[in-house]
Amino acid sequence: MSAKVFDALVGQSDAIDVLQNVLDNREHLVQSWLFTGPQGSGRSVLARAFAAAIECENGGCRNCSTCKTVMNDQNPDVTVILPKESVIKVQETREIIKLADKFPNALKKRIIIIEDADRMNDASFNSLLKSIEEPPENTIWILLAPTLESIIATIRSRCQKVQLKLPNIRDIAQYLIKETGVDATLAEKAARLSRGHIGIAKRYVTNSDELAEREQVTRDVLALSDAVSGYLLAQTVVEKSKQYTSSAEQSTKRQATDFIDDYLQSVMTVYTDIAKLQARNAESIVNAQNLKELQHLAKNTSVDSNLRCINAIQTARRRLFVNVKLEVLLEALFSNLN
Ligand SMILES: [Zn+2]
Repeated sequence: MSAKVFDALVGQSDAIDVLQNVLDNREHLVQSWLFTGPQGSGRSVLARAFAAAIECENGGCRNCSTCKTVMNDQNPDVTVILPKESVIKVQETREIIKLADKFPNALKKRIIIIEDADRMNDASFNSLLKSIEEPPENTIWILLAPTLESIIATIRSRCQKVQLKLPNIRDIAQYLIKETGVDATLAEKAARLSRGHIGIAKRYVTNSDELAEREQVTRDVLALSDAVSGYLLAQTVVEKSKQYTSSAEQSTKRQATDFIDDYLQSVMTVYTDIAKLQARNAESIVNAQNLKELQHLAKNTSVDSNLRCINAIQTARRRLFVNVKLEVLLEALFSNLN
């Protein structure tokens, strides 16, 4: 039986089995962990659930104040580091290491979860190395990243690795029906458009505006035809991202970039759908609500030109996290997608 705190995960039974096994044999508790999985697969939820299961007197009951405070990021002994900028710099890392050296206040362990650990630069990784290799006696590190390759080898070789999978559409749809009571058609659509991201899928079924906006992304991409339409779409997207940059908070720049990155991932699904149709694999089409247009494009576009679009989007996503002017980046991209 796995701990109740793990019930919040969808389609991750392999990873949960690994962790439950560790929890059941507490004397072997490894202190440095690396959880990897695509964005939205639930790696943040899994890290918090694991931390709660370690700290909870009942092995992760989901009901006690320890479980609740850990799961909600309100426990002083379990710290979640959420990078404010697109890079975690060495000064910030040194502060985190100082915290790791402190004895836990009330609970058994001090647990430090670093979200987006792949945003560390080389200097940060190097300063972290020693503490990951030999953590202070009562400290546990949990690093989260999209892929193993995004963490330098010297760090990842010193961590116990847990890999999450992208949950499939059926698992997500069933979860949505159970959690929110929506009908199967809406659950299936939200699951498809979420790209495997549970949090996003849940927002689509609970907020119809957000779902409508997501469907609009597909229509806008399908309507791209020339430089002018590309320019106009770039303007619209940058304008929307500005809702995150209006306040003076430091984290807003990251949120604006994340918004555009998320947008580009949605754009990408149009081209991966076309690629699937060209390969005669219509089963896992994301934008099934626009199937006719996609089939038309699959027929009338060459495989090579579609692949060029996919590569251009990937390049743009990487460049997002370097200092670039967003308007220029998106105009150049959208003008060349067709
Ligand atoms: Zn508990």
